[in-house]
Amino acid sequence: MEPSHHPEPAGSSSGTGGRPPEPPVVHLRRAVALLGDFPALAGADLDVGRGEIVLLRGANGAGKTTVLRTLAGLVRVSEGEATVLGVDLVTDRNAVRHRVGLLGHGTGLYEELTVADNVRFWARACRARPEDADAAMARLGVDGRLRNVAVGRLSTGQRRRTSLACLVARRPELWLLDEPHAGLDQEGRDVVDSLVRDATAAGATVVMSSHELDRALSLADVVVTVAGGTTRREQPGPVVVPMIGDPQEAPDVA
Ligand code: ATP
Repeated sequence: MEPSHHPEPAGSSSGTGGRPPEPPVVHLRRAVALLGDFPALAGADLDVGRGEIVLLRGANGAGKTTVLRTLAGLVRVSEGEATVLGVDLVTDRNAVRHRVGLLGHGTGLYEELTVADNVRFWARACRARPEDADAAMARLGVDGRLRNVAVGRLSTGQRRRTSLACLVARRPELWLLDEPHAGLDQEGRDVVDSLVRDATAAGATVVMSSHELDRALSLADVVVTVAGGTTRREQPGPVVVPMIGDPQEAPDVA
């Protein structure tokens, strides 16, 4: 893994020149979240500084998707501390939704609308400019003929690209990417990597999960192992992932 070129996460006093450290973009402490009566987060700790790229890794069912959905304000935190972009998720999780962008397992797209209408819709919802929507479609290669194609007629990879274009057009402060390389061709995977690097260079923060470890490790500044709904921040280098968790898919829980 490459050394971090990003600001130190909160809690570190180095490199601030005497200024108080920036508050973390993400702060979880002993966070618990229940899906039904199952503690999918079971006391998770996580601190992420602005501009960092964090990789969540772990076995199927470990809780990676739940961490990402919790940070997006979609899952209620029932115990512990949870703050994203200064918003307390325990008391006010809806307030964070327009400031984060989640690429989840579902597409979040309107099937009957065209690519362009979907991307413009999400851009408008976040008060982004129409030209941001156009630029995002061009960057993801869903411009030209595809702009006017209904999402219901797209291939899997084209849908994934359209979902990514929606996220890019919204210019979120925190990107939450659940297996962003999945379903994409080689060129698409490279585009994801360059989008992540560009976003963090411009001051955004990225938390992502991936089972494509070689690619994801070369992108990440920080690796966090998720297991049984808990988290452990790792030192750079090879990490042994405990094979615990259960392989059920988490449904959407708002
Ligand atoms: P994967 O790598 O397979 O995508 P993951 O690490 O993202 O897995 P999650 O989807 O966060 O894992 O699931 C965490 C745990 O929560 C799993 O054990 C799963 O079975 C459980 N779970 C998900 N949804 C529910 C639910 N509605 N009720 C009970 N348990 C659930």
